[in-house]
Amino acid sequence: MKEYGIIDEILIQAPKCKNTEKLIEDLRDINLIKDNARKGKLKGYHCTKCNDKGMIYLPDGKTGIKAAECSCMKIRSDMNGVVTSGLSEMIKSRSFDTFRCDELWQRQIKSTALAFADGGADSFFFIGGQSGSGKTHICTALCEELMKAGRAVKYIRWNDTFREILSLSDNKDRQLKEKKLAETDAAEILFIDDFLKSAKPSEAEKSLAFNIIENRYIRSKTTIISSEKTLGEINEIREDIAGRIYEKTGDRFLLKIPRDINKNYRFRNRTVN
Ligand SMILES: [Zn+2]
Repeated sequence: MKEYGIIDEILIQAPKCKNTEKLIEDLRDINLIKDNARKGKLKGYHCTKCNDKGMIYLPDGKTGIKAAECSCMKIRSDMNGVVTSGLSEMIKSRSFDTFRCDELWQRQIKSTALAFADGGADSFFFIGGQSGSGKTHICTALCEELMKAGRAVKYIRWNDTFREILSLSDNKDRQLKEKKLAETDAAEILFIDDFLKSAKPSEAEKSLAFNIIENRYIRSKTTIISSEKTLGEINEIREDIAGRIYEKTGDRFLLKIPRDINKNYRFRNRTVN
């Protein structure tokens, strides 16, 4: 069925109507409803506000229509961040269901993450310690759970992000640098993987780490952190970073995996196979 545009309808209706201006306004409103109801083609996230068009149509003056970007575009852009950073690939093999729970400490990790998914709200989730103990796995599963609930997650791998931001010059690349930082501040949920990975972080790395954590802390924004360092070790690097994290995790969402070779999945898999 052909859909008439507003001009067609005015041409058809106008000769019959005395008040053309009122007619145009009414037709405009009918078209607004139709335009807004039209189904869009955007994928990956369903928005009831724009019906996945990414645009909403609003009245402009008495008879005009203007289009505005829908707020879901922000969520979509955060989700695209997830896609390009590889989290969506990671999610396929790292769900809560596939997280190994043979031992008590593993069950504790899982139940802490599930509690966070359920009621973490504006807190932080921190898991630090033994490499290969499933830290990235549990954080990824947690992100997936939060995304299922309609929340947008931005994923950053600490080493890549801090190197990229620090490589930008304060003068020449200032705008880009500020944009990158604003993205980590604004993300609804930020997952920082392998936080402060370097054996001896430089002063610049430490102060960038502090700025990012501080800005998430001030805004009370959900932040998920995995690190090979425990929070105690981060405290030795910079007390203010560890302090801010602890204030937001409390004891409830703070996990420390002691360095014990039995806890290394990757190593264990290799010896078993
Ligand atoms: Zn929308």
